[in-house]
Amino acid sequence: MDPSRPVATHVAVRDGKILAVGGANCADAWGPVARDDSLAHAVLMPGLVEGHAHMMAGAMWEFAYAGYHDRIDPQGHLHKGMTDIGAVVARLREYSATLPEGQPLIAWGFDPIFLPTERLNRHHLDQIASDRPVVVMFSNFHLLCANSIALEMAGYSRDTNVEGVVKGVDGEPTGELQEMAAMFPVMRRTGVDFRGLSQKESAIRAYGDVCKHAGVTTVTDLFSEMQDEDLGALLAVTSDPGFALRIVPVLGAIGAAPQDIAKRAVALRGNSTDKLRLGAVKLMTDGSIQGWTARVKWPGYVGGQPNGIWNTPPALIHELCAAMQEHGVQMHIHVNGDEASSVTLDALEAAGRAHPWLGARHVLQHCQMMGPDQFRRCAEMGVCTNIFSNHIWFFGDQHAALTIGEDRATRMDAARSALDAGVHLAIHSDAPVTSMGPLFTAWCAVNRQTMSGRTLGAEQRITVDEALYAITLGAAYTLKLDAEIGSIETGKIADFAVLGADPTEVDPMALKDVPVLGTVSGGRVNLI
Ligand SMILES: [Zn+2]
Repeated sequence: MDPSRPVATHVAVRDGKILAVGGANCADAWGPVARDDSLAHAVLMPGLVEGHAHMMAGAMWEFAYAGYHDRIDPQGHLHKGMTDIGAVVARLREYSATLPEGQPLIAWGFDPIFLPTERLNRHHLDQIASDRPVVVMFSNFHLLCANSIALEMAGYSRDTNVEGVVKGVDGEPTGELQEMAAMFPVMRRTGVDFRGLSQKESAIRAYGDVCKHAGVTTVTDLFSEMQDEDLGALLAVTSDPGFALRIVPVLGAIGAAPQDIAKRAVALRGNSTDKLRLGAVKLMTDGSIQGWTARVKWPGYVGGQPNGIWNTPPALIHELCAAMQEHGVQMHIHVNGDEASSVTLDALEAAGRAHPWLGARHVLQHCQMMGPDQFRRCAEMGVCTNIFSNHIWFFGDQHAALTIGEDRATRMDAARSALDAGVHLAIHSDAPVTSMGPLFTAWCAVNRQTMSGRTLGAEQRITVDEALYAITLGAAYTLKLDAEIGSIETGKIADFAVLGADPTEVDPMALKDVPVLGTVSGGRVNLI
């Protein structure tokens, strides 16, 4: 990733930083060197940077997995996917039998889009347990299904009139709850607590394990509550020299006045360390495309579903953007549907006119339906994009058939258009929505293959070099860390991914299979 020296055989490290790069003698001018050949069999890349993931990727495994795909947990155990509702019910019934009386049963990772014949509802979940609350989070974390007890605890009934509380033909809630306003009352009462899943010391360490297996040395937590005691736990864990991960927790812009959120972000910035970077915020706008809650432009969803749900209404998006821009707070903004992208770009443009700030580097996150016109606006305003490339493999077939149709699906997650427009690009997993693995994410952006094996939108493929840049320096740029990480250059932090093969040498279709052997963080080797 250093254009002046793209390949080297040796790297010298002092005090956790890169002293010199080149051949065997590259550091001799600095005095005696201790030579270490223990990684001579491996390939070192700059440590991989995951610009959009969530700390709960480690701790979700305290709950039952109910997903369609096979998944591997941070300890390396395989959890088999389940391909019909009957299998989910049977597995969770077994799990229920192991729980203490009355304890809520929480599962995660379920995705109805792979099971289109029947919608999961509270009657299925009542079969799992009728004497305890049962909550099944969907894989996108924008929807969930609750059993009858859990619905009762939240006070949901046929008389409820809350957007996102889905009702059946009988007028009763089906159990499906869409987006945050509808979900939170159930989550609060049953203990599905994103904060608890993120800020315990064990959760932070589990996140470290997830990252090490993926070759990631810098990771985000892209919606953090960051209460005072959370900060204490983060500082304690990251200051442990054996903890091999830099974390960028991003404050969720929710639950307070925009001006107060901005001031809090500025105050948090002062607590930053080498391994913990604070001060940015995350804005939610719309929902999820495969949940039909993303806000999309005309002609909308191919099945005629109503347009999606604003988690933050457009007027508030404008207010938040103006406040953050005024206080110099960088924003990461969730935009899935193309209407959400348009509203956000309008808000950023207005904020930029009111409070000019060159170098703000705000980042649109997901950007799944953005077209060339929107990327050109990003380029004009210096707005970065972090594209959800994993969607192409996991959901590409479903998007073509069920959500936005073949033509718009072929130009989803349009990394080629972004680069051609001159936009700074990162690509991401949104773990735990999909498994963390930047080399897999790069493989998605390079090959655009779907689960059925076809290529979805060949015109939007990017090269291996471009994809590797996106998972290192490209992502570092979106975090304003490109001066410190993202490439192997003298003066930067000695963070490396230790790989079993050279990703620039293998067949592009084998990029996802390049073995990750571990990481080097600040010069310390951590092999798996
Ligand atoms: Zn996310």
